[in-house]
Amino acid sequence: MATRYDAGVDHLAALLAGEPSYRVRQAWDGLYRRLLDPADMTDLPLALRQELDERLPLALTTAVESVSDGGDTVKWLWRLHDGAAIETVLMHYADRATVCVSSQAGCAMACGFCATGQAGFERNLSTGEIVEQVVRAARRALPRRLSNVVFMGMGEPLANFDRVWAGIGRIHHDLGLSARHLTVSTIGVVPGIDRLAGAELPVNLAVSLHAANDGLRDRLVPLNRRYPLDALRQACARYVAASGRRLSFEWALIDATNDRPADAEELAALALPLRAHVNLIPLNPTPGYATPGTPPSGVAAFCRRLRALGVTTTVRRNRGTGIDAACGQLAAGPPRAQPARTVRLSPTRMESTSTSPRRTTPSGHTTERTSSPSTTAPGPTTEAPPEAARLAAR
Ligand code: SF4
Repeated sequence: MATRYDAGVDHLAALLAGEPSYRVRQAWDGLYRRLLDPADMTDLPLALRQELDERLPLALTTAVESVSDGGDTVKWLWRLHDGAAIETVLMHYADRATVCVSSQAGCAMACGFCATGQAGFERNLSTGEIVEQVVRAARRALPRRLSNVVFMGMGEPLANFDRVWAGIGRIHHDLGLSARHLTVSTIGVVPGIDRLAGAELPVNLAVSLHAANDGLRDRLVPLNRRYPLDALRQACARYVAASGRRLSFEWALIDATNDRPADAEELAALALPLRAHVNLIPLNPTPGYATPGTPPSGVAAFCRRLRALGVTTTVRRNRGTGIDAACGQLAAGPPRAQPARTVRLSPTRMESTSTSPRRTTPSGHTTERTSSPSTTAPGPTTEAPPEAARLAAR
């Protein structure tokens, strides 16, 4: 049975065979423009609502919903039909709301510093599982409008290219988000970057670089042995030339590993000819990687060095550290003991980790809220991050 957001218009039309043709458009608009469950599409007859609800089940079941940063960051751990777990993070800013989505359950890229990489690969997500993360976050963001989508959650998006690209088409054409507000990240899958360069929609590309010499990058990012830096640099240049879109380099700062002056100089040499923007964020702690993130003073020094070399650089505030918001951390195991509000949910039963007053989410689940400490910006933060939740763990 197709899940609700895996079903295309043709599938919906087949389900509604025998009904007036305008019903297909009504139901499609209900799902994508009005973000409704079929049960709430009051412009459809009751029997039709019930049938759509039964025959187009949701793909994501809430296992954990965590809220931090004074309500500005919401992270979900979802269960899929086969028991796989994925994560999604919604981040509110003064001028926008961004969702960070997963593209795979687990990841095969095996970056040692990343909680998702440590857990290994389970499977690719379907287009519907990707799109539903965006729809559920868009509903949660109401009355604000979800404006940005970043593919920086669990998994390597370009290793699941076809489904991710079909999801981008739905997000752009049906949910109505501009392609310029969609960002695909990659650890450096060169053939995927080339496919992206030839694709129809001008999305942004974020390359998770983390090292600008092959020796260090081979250690941090195993895929670098297959696509070394020079091949990656050339693919980035082709992407920028073909798309005219912005390129960014993501750099998780790891203490005494990639945060030295020489690292900044190597990074500048790579970034400047490509006019790449650099996003810095200190590495989040993960269970299987002992080296900590760079301390705030080191982040500030690294940022100053890059700027002095002429690189446009932003230090990203690490959202949701109190709720294990870096990708793969909820799925990797029980959340660390911390005072942020965390709820474990099932459709029928809720186990709370706190004792504060209850509230009801838009999806009808009961949650509990506790006060949350705000996270501390690392060093010279210039702007709250549009896509920070994943960076420290990718
Ligand atoms: S950093 Fe990204 S590509 Fe590497 S293992 Fe983690 S999710 Fe996969």
